[in-house]
This record gives sequence, C-alpha cells and structure tokens, in this order.
Amino acid sequence: MKERYCFECGKELNWSGFKFQNANLSEDYLKKLWDHNSVELYCCECFKDEMLLKKGIVSFPDDFIKKGKTKIVE
Ligand SMILES: [Zn+2]
Repeated sequence: MKERYCFECGKELNWSGFKFQNANLSEDYLKKLWDHNSVELYCCECFKDEMLLKKGIVSFPDDFIKKGKTKIVE
C-alpha cells in the first residue's frame, strides 16, 4: 500500500483505519480508491460531504456516490 495523506491538512492516513471506517465497502474497492491517483482522500476532520462537493474537489466513481454516505478517514 502506498502512503496517503489528507488532501486538506496533510495528515498521514492509515490504511487499517480507512478500512474500518468504510467497512460497508469491499476491501478490493477500497484498495482501488486508495491507490487511485486522481482520488483525493481526507482525514475524518476534513471530510465533510457538503463542503467538499460544493468546492468541487471531490470526484469519486459513480458507484461510490450511489452507496451513499461514506467517510474517508484516518
Ligand atoms: Zn485532514
């Protein structure tokens, strides 16, 4: 797994925590997100659906959005 940092505050993100917080998604899918170069991840504090979507700086694959509320967290 490569190292990921919060796009907003630069805090290092933790893979096992990320997996735990997104347990409703499959591990394979989370891996794809984690390794995806154009997907920016945020820590819990910085992740706020509305704010990020308004700013237009979040762009997840369609099925990610359809699954509803998902936190990208530490
Ligand atoms: Zn952050």
